[in-house]
Amino acid sequence: MKNVRMKALNITVPLKAHQYFSDDGYVDNLEAHTCDLIKMYEVKKSEVEKFDITNKDNLGFCFFESMANDRKLPNENYVHIYYLKTSGYGDIFIRAHEETHALLHLGKLKYLFFDMIKNMTTPPLSLILKNRIEDMANYSGIYAMQKRKLI
Ligand SMILES: [Zn+2]
Repeated sequence: MKNVRMKALNITVPLKAHQYFSDDGYVDNLEAHTCDLIKMYEVKKSEVEKFDITNKDNLGFCFFESMANDRKLPNENYVHIYYLKTSGYGDIFIRAHEETHALLHLGKLKYLFFDMIKNMTTPPLSLILKNRIEDMANYSGIYAMQKRKLI
């Protein structure tokens, strides 16, 4: 078991041995960084479509890839987040948004919920029950800002 830190959400999450998380930080070009990761992990052409890389509205990105290994172990899980440099409050919002996607891909969203409950708040149930992940990620962005008393 190893711990990783979600810096914008300010929470620590335990990962299993086959799980990897990397906060790659600020990048100049989201599409170029995604293409680098696609090459690095040798993502199959048929699977590249899962990444919405040409969407120019993105301010951050969450890359995820799962790989089988030779031994009879669970698939290796790799998750990267990266984002454009945004001035002011937007920075925490975007980073917390991408961290929420990362938590989902790592199956660790409950640690965010634990932290919210500890801080006497909970996301609207409809976001969880209806699996509205984009709305949930936006809610987390606002939560991270409130936690830092930015709003
Ligand atoms: Zn999103």
